[in-house]
Amino acid sequence: MSKIKPLRDFVIEMTRWVEIENDESNLLGHGQSLLKNLVSDDCWLPDIYANPDPKNYRQNLLWCDPLERFSLVSFVWGPGQVTPIHDHTVWGLVGILRGSEVNQNYSITSDQKLEQIDEETLNPGMVASVSPTIGDIHKVSNGVPDQTSISIHLYGANIGALCRHSFDPETGATEEFISGYSNLTTPNLFDCSSDEHTR
Ligand code: FE
Repeated sequence: MSKIKPLRDFVIEMTRWVEIENDESNLLGHGQSLLKNLVSDDCWLPDIYANPDPKNYRQNLLWCDPLERFSLVSFVWGPGQVTPIHDHTVWGLVGILRGSEVNQNYSITSDQKLEQIDEETLNPGMVASVSPTIGDIHKVSNGVPDQTSISIHLYGANIGALCRHSFDPETGATEEFISGYSNLTTPNLFDCSSDEHTR
């Protein structure tokens, strides 16, 4: 049985921060330390939000702030699965829970072409950030060839409802998309029966 308390604690703390803070760099800082803490212990993600789909990576909504000030998503990567090159249009943080993830970052040149800036391999406990101000375009793939990898993504909006862009790797041409979510239900944060000290 997964212990839901770390997820509930994360949502409570993040809700407190978005109540009092709207500066992007401060939210990235607070979000980073909370997300680092959340992915440091792989005990809380219910199995139904951790199962891969053989066809496509899954984007499971774990929580969306009712005022859409942040959302939290489990990305589940089967072997060989990869995103298109895409942007986010809001700040975001990627924390690795299981396996590993390869993150290729891009920028747009003055003649509107895509240029890869760097590539990083993220392992469990590591957190990477994106935003329109610090660099918002990347491509993400499962870093483990024969296993499922899972990352937990925190965004500064209801990410599944935003109109964003994917990029053609050759021409840099953009296409709009709205990702939606893969799951139909979210975890029950209010069942305290798996807490160590129940009320
Ligand atoms: Fe992304």
